[in-house]
Amino acid sequence: TTDIYYDDDVDGSYLATTTVAVLGYGSQGHAHALNLHESGVDVVVGLREDSASRAAAEEDGLTVTTPVEAAARAEVVSVLVPDTVQPAVYERIEPELEEGNTLQFAHGFNIHYNQIQPPEHVDVTMIAPKSPGHLVRRNYENDEGTPGLLAVYQDYTGDARERALAYGKGIGCTRAGVVETSFKEETETDIFGEQAVLCGGIAELIKVGYETLIDAGYSPEMAYFECMNEMKLIVDLMYEGGLGAMWDSVSDTAEYGGLTRGDDVIDDHVRENMEEVLEQVQNGEFATEWIAENQANRPVYTQLNQAEKDHDIERVGERLRALFAWEEATEGTEDEDQTR
Ligand code: NDP
Ligand code: MG
Ligand code: MG
Repeated sequence: TTDIYYDDDVDGSYLATTTVAVLGYGSQGHAHALNLHESGVDVVVGLREDSASRAAAEEDGLTVTTPVEAAARAEVVSVLVPDTVQPAVYERIEPELEEGNTLQFAHGFNIHYNQIQPPEHVDVTMIAPKSPGHLVRRNYENDEGTPGLLAVYQDYTGDARERALAYGKGIGCTRAGVVETSFKEETETDIFGEQAVLCGGIAELIKVGYETLIDAGYSPEMAYFECMNEMKLIVDLMYEGGLGAMWDSVSDTAEYGGLTRGDDVIDDHVRENMEEVLEQVQNGEFATEWIAENQANRPVYTQLNQAEKDHDIERVGERLRALFAWEEATEGTEDEDQTR
C-alpha cells in the first residue's frame, strides 16, 4: 500500500528560514503564494514586467518582482507558469539556481520530457495538488486541505523529500494527505487521464450520445438533459461514494441497463484505442506533437477549440441553462475565480 503523508509527518521548519519564489500568479500560483505566505513563509512572486497578474498579487499583499530577481532571492523556486512557457522562463532563471536550492513543480511535463534540464546541484521536486488552484486556495482558507502528490526527481541535498513535504504542508496539502509518486508516473497518468477519460473521453461520450439522439429525431432539449446535464448528478454520486453509490441511487432499470449495455458502448475497441493513446503518452509522441504545435502558434488547437464552441450542444445548453433556476443557484460558487 501507498504511504500517505499528513501534517504530523512533516517537519515544516525548513521553510521558516527559506524564501520561496513563486513564478506565475495564475490558477496554482496565486493559491501556492497566498497559502505559503499565510503559513509564515517568506514568499516573493515572480512576474514579467508587463504582467496582467501583477495588480492582483500586489493587492493581495505580496512582494512582486521579475522571475529572475525572485529566483535570485529564493532558495526554493516554484515554477507555476503554464507548462508551455516554462522552458523559456526557466532558461532565464537557471543562472540564479545556487547549490542546494530547490526547483519545485506542480506537474512533471517539462522535466519528464526533457524540456527543462536542471543542473546537478539542485533538488528537483514536485508537489502537485489534485485540484484546480481556486480550490487549493479556498480549502486552505476554510482550514481544509487539498490532496496532493509528491515526487522527487533529483535529490542533491539528501533532504529533497522532506523539503518538498514542507512545501506541501505550507500550501495545505498534508492536511488532506500527500501520496508519493514519480515525475514519470504523475506526468503519464495525468496526461492519459485527461485525454482518455476526464476531458477528451467524457466530452466525446457526451457529444456522441447527444448526436445519436438528435439523429434519431429526439429533441435537442431532451438530448441535452439526458447526455450532458445529468452527468453532474451522476459524477457527484461517484465522487461521494464510488460507483456503488451511483448504482445504488439510480433506478434498478438504469442499473440493469447500464450494467448490461455499458460495455457494449465502451467495448474492446475503445480499450485498444485507450492503449494506443497511452502509448503515445509513454513514448513521447504526444509531447513532441504538442511542443511542435505550440512552436507553430497552435493551428490545430485553435481550429479544434473553435469547432467545440460551435457544436450544437453548446448553443442548446446555453439557452437551457439561462431558462432554469438551478443554474442560478450554483453559479458563482463552484467556478468563480477559476483563472485568476
Ligand atoms: P496559469 O495558466 O494559471 O498561469 C498563469 C500565470 O502564468 C499568470 O500569472 C501569467 O502571468 C503567467 N505567465 C503566462 N505566460 C507567461 C510568460 N510567458 N512569462 C511569465 N509568466 C507568464 O497556470 P496553471 O496554474 O494552470 O499551471 C501552473 C502549473 O500548475 C502547470 O505546471 C500546471 O500543469 C500545474 N497544475 C495546474 C493545475 C490547474 O488546475 N490549473 C492543477 C495541477 C497542476 P501574466 O499575467 O503575465 O500572463
Ligand atoms: Mg490533470
Ligand atoms: Mg435517466
